Amino acid sequence: MTIIAGVLALQGDIEEHVQALERALRELNISYRIVLVKKVEHLSNIDLITIPGGESTTIGFLSRRTGILDKLKERIENGLPVLGTCAGMVMMAKEVRDAVVGETSQPLLGVMDMSVIRNVFGRQRESFEIDLKIPVLGEKPFRAVFIRAPAAVKLWNDAQPLATLRHEKYGELIVMVRQRNMLACAFHPELVLDTRVHKYFITEVAGFQQR
Ligand code: GLN
Repeated sequence: MTIIAGVLALQGDIEEHVQALERALRELNISYRIVLVKKVEHLSNIDLITIPGGESTTIGFLSRRTGILDKLKERIENGLPVLGTCAGMVMMAKEVRDAVVGETSQPLLGVMDMSVIRNVFGRQRESFEIDLKIPVLGEKPFRAVFIRAPAAVKLWNDAQPLATLRHEKYGELIVMVRQRNMLACAFHPELVLDTRVHKYFITEVAGFQQR
């Protein structure tokens, strides 16, 4: 079986997402085809999708204009496995506000039961890397790259925190969340060579087995 892996290709670090998926799928010995999702038609055959980091407002407006927003939301609600990183995490949240401007009226998929603050690390720590403990990936910490990152401050229903980070103002921030077929990271696993987050997504969240 060949799995068809989609990458939402409207804006952001699309190429890095393609390469990270390819690395993980090859290491798992799963045969695959990548589809760049730019139009609604591209959604029909995919078995999973990833949503890149970038600017969530831009990704939101472009996905609404192309009609992808509603269709993708429907497919995710019907079980399509999805991994969103950074701006992708913002897109997936049901509640979003910005650390500086507060309310944002940006178009969202609104599929995950979490409240997310955009740009929560502010100016001083706009971008940083940290060795993050992610218990579901094992003992070895994951090198997590944060770039103007968001984080979740509240989860409800069956949304589960997989990694947290301490913040002076907000206390414990949630930087990785799983809810059924959905996985969100505030950081960018596509920017490091460690494929564990992608492998976890493909095997545990999407349920495709290593060959
Ligand atoms: N701050 C951006 C947003 O909210 C996300 C940044 C990123 O994806 N690296 O859209």
